[in-house]
Amino acid sequence: MPNTLKALLRNLCITVCASAAGAASVSAQEQVVNLYSARHYSTDEALYTGFTKATSIKINRVDADDAGILARLKAEGSASPADVILLVDAARLHKGEVDGLFQPIQSKVLTAAIPAQFRSAPGADGGVAWFGFSTRARLIVYNKAKVQKDDVDTYEELGAPKNKGKVCIRSGSHPYNLSLFGAVIEHIGEQKAEAWLKGLVSNLARAPKGGDTDQINAVAAGECDIAVTNSYYLARLMRSTKPEDVATVSKIGVVFPNQDSWGTHVNIAGGAVARHAKNPANAIRFLEYLASADAQNYFANGNNEWPAAKSVTVDNPALKAMTGGKPFKSETIPISAVGANTTKVQQMLDRVGFQ
Ligand code: FE
Repeated sequence: MPNTLKALLRNLCITVCASAAGAASVSAQEQVVNLYSARHYSTDEALYTGFTKATSIKINRVDADDAGILARLKAEGSASPADVILLVDAARLHKGEVDGLFQPIQSKVLTAAIPAQFRSAPGADGGVAWFGFSTRARLIVYNKAKVQKDDVDTYEELGAPKNKGKVCIRSGSHPYNLSLFGAVIEHIGEQKAEAWLKGLVSNLARAPKGGDTDQINAVAAGECDIAVTNSYYLARLMRSTKPEDVATVSKIGVVFPNQDSWGTHVNIAGGAVARHAKNPANAIRFLEYLASADAQNYFANGNNEWPAAKSVTVDNPALKAMTGGKPFKSETIPISAVGANTTKVQQMLDRVGFQ
């Protein structure tokens, strides 16, 4: 009996040890890319599987929010294992760029696929610090029973005296608002933008609190009549079958602001190669994959956004309902210029007392 056991153990060891040695030699050659992602959508899983299938490059993923990722990259410095980074706002991508956390990307595939409007301005060597892969519009929603659409169809009207005490909006210093206000500076100039922000603060129905969905719900609940939200939060509510969400959506109207002037402000979610990437070629391959039509569909549609890549479209019922099935006029300024206004905006917010 003991001999049988010994033989069994010996056989077991041969199998286990052999496969362990095999695994070691495989992992020595295994291609990987280490991803830090601020995205957390279940549809992204299909995206990652698709990449590994197409390239045999394995993705090791760390999930955190944007601020957490930027702080982590800073703290890790040159020891950082990160190769590629996904963030969800132009102001944050700009911050990563100016903090020196990215390395310029040279990729004909990416520059051909992603319009110049949705990427960082190229450096002297033509390298680009980050690319946008999906777009989201910053919209105005209003209580249909209390507000006329004509009174809220521009961002400027958020600061107009007629809308006193009616507006709900999240914190002024949230990146979505930093980007919106940075865009407004580009469109109407600093002086007018500051006067507008002052008007907006005096129009607030309550001190800024909560996220975009909370502002939509506050309009439906009658706490305020007008609110500002990213398009995908509204799309999420429109696709929800929960009775309370259905009730909310039935009460609100939506505006794509400034259709008769400079167009609706559009932000991006995007990606960059980490400054200290150990697998930079794989990182670029990953970003190039994200620009492909299939990946664009998962990337954008998964969060009810629009693809950033040229001539890629999504078939999304909520987005279709929101736009009436027609394309809307979006601003055409480079999103990099918007990001570059962040500090200016923060100083303005302090001056006008916008928390
Ligand atoms: Fe968001």
